[in-house]
Amino acid sequence: MCSDEKGVMMTDTTRKRAAARCEDCGRALAVWVTPDQKIAPIGSVSGCPCGETSFRLLN
Ligand SMILES: [Zn+2]
Repeated sequence: MCSDEKGVMMTDTTRKRAAARCEDCGRALAVWVTPDQKIAPIGSVSGCPCGETSFRLLN
């Protein structure tokens, strides 16, 4: 039941900062990328100001 101790360490080290572009309006945003490739805009939990929630990562 308590065999998984890694949960305690799962904080900022499991996600990384990146730049992404909104799929709709093309706005560039700073985002968090999680290990399973989910993209979450930094400072905006609801997505792009235009209302879009899909982003393309920039390299
Ligand atoms: Zn947008």
